[in-house]
Amino acid sequence: ATEVGGDDKAVVREYFNTTGFDRWRKIYSDATEGVNKVQLDIRLGHSKTVEKTIEMLKDDSPLAGVSICDAGCGTGSLSIPLAREGAVVTATDISAAMVDEARRRASEELGEAQMPVFDVSDLEGLKGKWDTVVCLDVLIHYPQEKADGMIEHLASLAERRLVLSFAPKTFYYDLLKRIGELFPGPSKATRAYLHAERDVERALRRVGWKINKKGLINTQFYFANLIEAVPVSSTA
Ligand code: SAM
Repeated sequence: ATEVGGDDKAVVREYFNTTGFDRWRKIYSDATEGVNKVQLDIRLGHSKTVEKTIEMLKDDSPLAGVSICDAGCGTGSLSIPLAREGAVVTATDISAAMVDEARRRASEELGEAQMPVFDVSDLEGLKGKWDTVVCLDVLIHYPQEKADGMIEHLASLAERRLVLSFAPKTFYYDLLKRIGELFPGPSKATRAYLHAERDVERALRRVGWKINKKGLINTQFYFANLIEAVPVSSTA
């Protein structure tokens, strides 16, 4: 995709507080009313990404007591199950509407002691250190040059590992065509950007990180590469 003029981030923030909030809140739920076939397929693909992420995170040790930052948490699809596993979760998103919805869902599903700490913040502005930082299906909203900086910043927040998902450039033409259906009408202002694995790898390398594990998720309309990155010096 070609880059839109102006500040992508402002466009994305506006979208996820308005039409994008309505669209994605429905996709990331069990509701069937007003959800079309493409959206149902994306729901399925996304739920697989969440499932694989949890598997990846639990692979070497249990999550109880592990500090995790879910950057761009959306409605809490990942934050909530991680908190249920006993992780100490910080859930943040650029969209206040998304954070409110995630908090509402969490308070319905979790006990007081498990509640994540919620914060409205773009991931570039996050400060702190977490054992693990996760960022699912967020990079798709940014061109590679912005994604580079985001990946580098996320790595600086993580002590042990960073888990990212992105739409792989491999499926470029096919995916682009299909993704058009995701952003119909006036909300087309938000574009979908695909990222080549080697570019993500390069951004990680620049800050001394490497890819440690990989997964690929795809349904008819949803494609994602899921990677776990660790510091190069790590023995993982
Ligand atoms: N990660 C969630 C999940 O997988 O369920 C939500 C994915 S949703 C497609 C993308 C989310 O990223 C939206 O909630 C949006 O508000 C958020 N987002 C977009 N740009 C962001 C940024 N620069 N910093 C933090 N969050 C951002």
